[in-house]
Amino acid sequence: MNENSKAKPGLSTLCVHAGEKLDSQGATHTPLYNHSTFGFSSTRELLDVVEGRSEGNVYTRYGMNPTIRSVEGKLAALEGGEGALVFSSGMAAIAATLFAYCRSGEHVVCIGDVYGGTYELLGSVLPHQHIDTTFLLCDDIDRIYQVITSSTRVIFLETPGNPTLEIVDIEAVSRLAKANNITLVVDSTFGSPVNQSPLRFGADIVVHSATKYLGGHSDITGGVAIGANAALKQIFPWRTNLGQIMAPEVAFLLARSLRTLVVRVRQQNASGQAIANFLSRHPKVKHVNYPGLPDARGHDIAARQMRGFGGVVSFIYDGDAEATAAFVDRLEFFTIAVSLGGVESLVTQPVTTSHHDLDPAERRRRGIVDGLVRISCGLEDTEDLVADLQRALEA
Ligand code: PLP
Repeated sequence: MNENSKAKPGLSTLCVHAGEKLDSQGATHTPLYNHSTFGFSSTRELLDVVEGRSEGNVYTRYGMNPTIRSVEGKLAALEGGEGALVFSSGMAAIAATLFAYCRSGEHVVCIGDVYGGTYELLGSVLPHQHIDTTFLLCDDIDRIYQVITSSTRVIFLETPGNPTLEIVDIEAVSRLAKANNITLVVDSTFGSPVNQSPLRFGADIVVHSATKYLGGHSDITGGVAIGANAALKQIFPWRTNLGQIMAPEVAFLLARSLRTLVVRVRQQNASGQAIANFLSRHPKVKHVNYPGLPDARGHDIAARQMRGFGGVVSFIYDGDAEATAAFVDRLEFFTIAVSLGGVESLVTQPVTTSHHDLDPAERRRRGIVDGLVRISCGLEDTEDLVADLQRALEA
């Protein structure tokens, strides 16, 4: 069989094998090179690496470290990108990407719901650098033609969005972005590479909080930007000079976690769907946000652009803030905590955490009401999670 006729490996195979660099000691996967610097036997050899004539490792902050390169290779393969850059957090990846693509006086359009930290970066931090953002709700997406200006450089979107799990049509937005020479950045944290591949739908750069599904065990903080090498080349100096590199130990743990990504996320998808089905029939629940429900807003788009609908479900409990908190407090297997994507199930009321500081009127406009509860399914038995919710709803 020649190289060209070989079938492309599936996602689970890539999780295990992509990016691995075996060493002379026979380790079965890339070792942890917990080193800040690497030595050379001659100045010529050093210059060959520094001047790009040969591949080698120089200094970890530059990303020139075998453990970091290895996990970047795995992440690039999983997203179908040419390359990847790993960061110390998801926010570091998002901030470096925005700084790389926008100069003072330029403009961003942000579509739909985004993580609270991203909202703050775009709405409060970047304006200090004279980079302004127009926020468009998914309902207002038709207005995008009115808000794009000649200085719009980036369209940023998150799909599914936090916390109402709204779906944005990546392909439709990417057509518009390309026609206007605008870079499309998609935060795919909620989807993970198991459930969606934004680059295939025309996104230029995909970012993730690796703290969530990619890390998957609530024990690392990290981020990644993935795309074509030319696109990443612009981001690279920001990561290097702002010192945002992921630590080698974290890269090692991230690679370990990625090897089980597919099995974890498929189980989380199954629990998410079962819980959404259960909640949508329960009288104490006013509304369920989950793209896998046939009558959910955006379900048709999700069915087209996603392979699974994820392990995060949000819903509106039929009660005020206090009654909702009491319901949340009754749950046994869902720990009250921010974040998502780990092996343990988590629950949060967005008004008390991620969207606490958002203007109340803006919160209401975005459907982030007092009774809104967001759960992240872990890897417990689905039946136990459903039973726990039922107990707490009916207590
Ligand atoms: N993007 C999304 C969708 C998130 O949920 C988060 C964190 O919750 C981030 C980005 C930021 O990631 P990190 O906390 O790793 O900086």
